[in-house]
Amino acid sequence: MTTETPSHSIADPDIRRIRHELRRRVLDVLSVEDVTPAMRRIVLGGEDLADFESAGFDDHVKLFLPGADGQEAMRDYTPRRFDRDGRRLTLDFVLHDAGPATAFARAARPGDILSIGGPRGSAVIGSSVRRFLLVGDETALPAIGRFIEEARPDTVIEAHVLVTGAAEEQRFGTAAQLQLVYHHAAADQAARAALLLRAIGPDHGPEPRFAWIAAEASVARAVRTHLVETCGHPLAWLKSSGYWVEGLANASEKG
Ligand SMILES: Cc1cc2nc3c(=O)[nH]c(=O)nc-3n(C[C@H](O)[C@H](O)[C@H](O)COP(=O)(O)OP(=O)(O)OC[C@H]3O[C@@H](n4cnc5c(N)ncnc54)[C@H](O)[C@@H]3O)c2cc1C
Repeated sequence: MTTETPSHSIADPDIRRIRHELRRRVLDVLSVEDVTPAMRRIVLGGEDLADFESAGFDDHVKLFLPGADGQEAMRDYTPRRFDRDGRRLTLDFVLHDAGPATAFARAARPGDILSIGGPRGSAVIGSSVRRFLLVGDETALPAIGRFIEEARPDTVIEAHVLVTGAAEEQRFGTAAQLQLVYHHAAADQAARAALLLRAIGPDHGPEPRFAWIAAEASVARAVRTHLVETCGHPLAWLKSSGYWVEGLANASEKG
């Protein structure tokens, strides 16, 4: 069962929050392909997806994975694409050095099993919001790609994405007016944040734009601070998340 709670006032952007029934689903790996050298796409399938719902571009599911210590580990991933009729859910994994999710993605073969939970809820931004600033690193690309592909034609999107090099750049089809800029940066998070701050510049326009930020936590925090303190960006028009924390397993930060 799904329930909806309107949560906006006149001054705030129109954002609808939807709660979903939380249940565990056991899915089969249908296919594994590399979108880029460091981004692995895994398509999952199964009848458990018959009542799966993902209404928001930045929804997340919990993956239940075997941990190194024999305990079950949980990690968050974005439903990159969902095809209800075909009962197919696509997830994109950044392949980094170590961790249960990365280990799963590196070893995954068709026929493997993966259990997921969620999404617990979705935040759906209404059609009255037409201008967007999307900022992130590789872990944000599944949500950013989904947003761009699903955007309405009257949407104006400026996106800044950190990747390690040209081979990691992804292109997306869209009906929207899109300016997508990739920034090539190595692993140092402070240098990565500085690149983004230089790229974003002053934040102004004919109407407010919704800023969405997801990256390593220190990078997301730096971008959020820049937008709020330097650019005067209204807090209600901003969502910032630390999708991972350098040096810490299974860590994230809400902005
Ligand atoms: C809402 C949400 C949605 C997300 N969606 C996606 C998604 O669609 N695709 C995706 O790839 N990630 C996504 N992430 C990020 C992902 O959950 C984390 O990167 C997670 O820590 C990976 O788990 P792991 O088992 O591979 O590594 P962990 O066991 O969590 O970490 C092991 C080590 O690797 C480091 N590490 C973790 N992630 C990275 C990284 N990306 N690059 C370099 N080092 C890293 C940690 O700091 C730690 O030192 C999302 C996170 C959130 C909160």
